[in-house]
Amino acid sequence: MKLSVPAYYKSFKCIADRCRHSCCVGWEIDIDSVTMKKYRTLSDGYGKNILESIEGDEPHFRLCEDERCTHLDERGLCRIISCFGDEYLCHICRAHPRFYNDTVRGKEAGLGLSCEEAARIILSRDDYDKMIGIDEFCPQDEWECPDTDFDAAVHRERIYSILSADAPYPKRLSYICDEFKVSPAALPGEEWCEVLSSLEYLNEEHRRLFFCYSSDLETPEKAEDYLRRALSYFVYRHCSGAGSEEKFRISLGFSLFCERLLSSMVREYKADTFEKICELARVISEEIEYSEDNTESIKDIFYFV
Ligand code: SF4
Repeated sequence: MKLSVPAYYKSFKCIADRCRHSCCVGWEIDIDSVTMKKYRTLSDGYGKNILESIEGDEPHFRLCEDERCTHLDERGLCRIISCFGDEYLCHICRAHPRFYNDTVRGKEAGLGLSCEEAARIILSRDDYDKMIGIDEFCPQDEWECPDTDFDAAVHRERIYSILSADAPYPKRLSYICDEFKVSPAALPGEEWCEVLSSLEYLNEEHRRLFFCYSSDLETPEKAEDYLRRALSYFVYRHCSGAGSEEKFRISLGFSLFCERLLSSMVREYKADTFEKICELARVISEEIEYSEDNTESIKDIFYFV
C-alpha cells in the first residue's frame, strides 16, 4: 500500500532480543480474521503450537505466567517469525510500532514513541518535516478519504516552520499557542495534576512520576532539541487526522500538553542524557497516548479552555 511517512521512518528496525521494554510482554494480542484463516491451514510442526496457543471468543494468543507472549523464545525472538516468516504475524504484531492516519492527501504512517527503538529515532532526527512516499504492508489496506476539505497538513507544516524559526524555544512554543489559540497553561498546574492522577496506568508506579507537571514554558536548555522533536511527533500523530480546525486545535492542545509533561519530567528527574530523556518520553507515550481513554480525558479539557 502507498503510504506517506516522515523521512526517518525507514530507519526503523525492531531490536528484538536487545529490547528492554518488549511489546511482546504484557499485551494481549488480538488476532485478525485474515491471519486467523492462515493459521487454520497450519496443522504440522510449530503450526500446531500456534493453533493451541489461541484462546477466547475474540481470538488472541495466550500469555505465559510472566505475561510474555507464548511465542517469545528464551532469546527474546518470535518463534512465528523464525518458523514461518513475517507474513505469518497477525496484523497487530506486523504493524507495531507503526500507526496510520487517513488524511485528505492520502494514508500516512508513523512510528509510535512507546517503542524504545522508535523513541531513539524520533528524538534524534530533524527530518520529521520531510515526507517521503513508500510502498509497504498496512493492516488497513484501503485509504478512506475523510469527508472534509480541511487539510491538516497545511497547519502541521506551519507548526514545523515555527519550530524551526530562529527564536528561543519557549518563544516558539508561545507563538504556536498564540497562533492556534490553545495552551495547556489555560488550566492551572494543580488541576492538571488532578487530571493526571485520575488516569488509568499500566504501571502504577508511573502515576506519581507525572505529578511534577507544570505548563511553565521554562525549558531545560540542553533538552530543547529533544522536546522540539517530541512535539513534532505528537503533532504528526495526533493532529494529522483532524477533520476540522477545532479538532486540530484540540489535538494540538494535547500535543503541547505531552511536550510540557516531558519538559517537566526532564527538569524534575534531572534527565541529563539522551537515553534518560528517551525513556521518559517512552513512558509518557505508553501511559497516555497508547490509552484511548487517557488521551480522550486530556483532549476533553481542551474543549473548554
Ligand atoms: S518495542 Fe519496538 S524494539 Fe521492542 S520488541 Fe517491540 S517493536 Fe521491537
